[in-house]
Amino acid sequence: MRLSRYFLPVLKENPAEAQIVSHRYMLRAGMIKQQAAGIYSWLPLGFKVLKRIEQIVHEEQIRAGHIPLLMPTLQPADLWRESGRYDDYGQEMLRIKDRHERDMLFGPTNEEMITDIFRAHVNSYKELPLTLYHIQWKFRDEVRPRFGVMRGREFLMKDGYNFDLTKEDALHAYNRHMVSYLRTYERMGLTAIPMRAASGPIGGDNTHEFLVLASTGESEVFYDAKVPELKLGDRAVDYDNRAEVAAICEEFTTLYARTDETHDEAAFNAIPEERRKVGRGIEVGQIFYFGTKYSESMGATVVTAEGNRVPVEMGSHGIGVSRLLGALIEANHDDKGIIWPEGVTPFHCGIVNLKQGDAGTDAACEGLYKALVAAGLDPLYDDRDERAGAKFATMDLIGLPWRITVGPKGLGKGVVELTSRRTGESVEMSAEDAVARIVEIYAAHR
Ligand code: ATP
Ligand code: MG
Repeated sequence: MRLSRYFLPVLKENPAEAQIVSHRYMLRAGMIKQQAAGIYSWLPLGFKVLKRIEQIVHEEQIRAGHIPLLMPTLQPADLWRESGRYDDYGQEMLRIKDRHERDMLFGPTNEEMITDIFRAHVNSYKELPLTLYHIQWKFRDEVRPRFGVMRGREFLMKDGYNFDLTKEDALHAYNRHMVSYLRTYERMGLTAIPMRAASGPIGGDNTHEFLVLASTGESEVFYDAKVPELKLGDRAVDYDNRAEVAAICEEFTTLYARTDETHDEAAFNAIPEERRKVGRGIEVGQIFYFGTKYSESMGATVVTAEGNRVPVEMGSHGIGVSRLLGALIEANHDDKGIIWPEGVTPFHCGIVNLKQGDAGTDAACEGLYKALVAAGLDPLYDDRDERAGAKFATMDLIGLPWRITVGPKGLGKGVVELTSRRTGESVEMSAEDAVARIVEIYAAHR
């Protein structure tokens, strides 16, 4: 993309309404625009990152054997009357009437609807196990929408639902989700710690939340300093291997890590003092096992091998896709702007032309741009007729991890400059080497 033809409405001033850094930078970098409290338009740059995150979520769900579909945002109230949650959900649910005075609602989650799909089409234990998921907009009329996309009213969530014959099978599905979530967050360059949680309105007793450590997080967290060091890395996981998946879950959940809701002072104090950490965290996901809570009330049953009809075992599992943008920025920024991890960056690298209109620098930039595109990458070329300082400021603000700077002086020596946004380090090299280096860096993120 050439910046002169892009739509990147950056703001020079800090918007007064933004209290935390991610909200401030998302507004300043022209990623989002608020349309009503907690409701945002996703401008091109924000939309690009949102799509990158969505793509990673999809890939990891499919890798785990889960099947994508798409349910509507609007739901009939009658489904929720069956489960009893139409009354229980309270004011967070946006209730709507259609022209025939029928009660509808904008879905805050989809347990009822997925259970309805299941009961309409599945009859036999032979069709299990089954995990269906979608990535769809949710609406929750939050008392206090705030911090930008972090606590929106309309927000994008990946929500998945497992259907199994036995509790043992459903707990394997739970573990599979835990491991697939760990992989998902790691691919984005995030450390999200699974913490035992309290269940809330979804119900069920087996549940973990995934928290990203950040001083601006809404949850207070207590953890062993060794927990954030745990990494899946590039180990290959066989999701059908129950023992292997369970062992990974055990590895990631044995050391102490709890939110204030489930905190146990005595257990915490048993950790050696120098490893006891208290901090704050952003909830970026949650997994639940809740057994037959919905299948019983809604009549979602299967016939077993013995010919008995039993309610299906279920769980539900969510990732805060739009909230992740905020969490990523909270975890990756400095005083100049965002620093995107390579896994989610909106453009792979920036090209800054220090002397726009100069035949030599223009040609060198065009050459770099075309070479990067030919290599399958997505560069952003700042070809505007602007001062170098303004170009650097924009690049730093929008946070592309790599920048190639092209000026007449360097070209005279046959070099361009490759700069890391994270370390600020610059290295001079030939344009060909710069392209090769960028290609190599992103080969690890395909
Ligand atoms: P919270 O405790 O933050 O209100 P929740 O526990 O009610 O969230 P879940 O039902 O577990 O949310 O939804 C799954 C994920 O969706 C959460 O882990 C979170 O990342 C995201 N999420 C929930 N509410 C919002 C919101 N209002 N804005 C943005 N993301 C949200
Ligand atoms: Mg939750």
